[in-house]
Amino acid sequence: MINRVEIMGEIDEIMDKYCNDCLLKKALNQERGKTAAHRFCISECTIGDQLRFLGNEMNKFSE
Ligand code: SF4
Repeated sequence: MINRVEIMGEIDEIMDKYCNDCLLKKALNQERGKTAAHRFCISECTIGDQLRFLGNEMNKFSE
């Protein structure tokens, strides 16, 4: 069975691979600010969508 630590590892891996050097996020941060960039990540990007899903899954373990 998958556990919290494994989900956290998966989140880290995805962020390392796609988000940490994301030029889109960098550009949005500069042009529209952090909140707008964050909103873009969670509502427009499939990677962000995946991260949100994994975050929700992870939270289920702390309930
Ligand atoms: S969620 Fe998408 S847009 Fe946001 S930083 Fe990650 S890859 Fe870039």
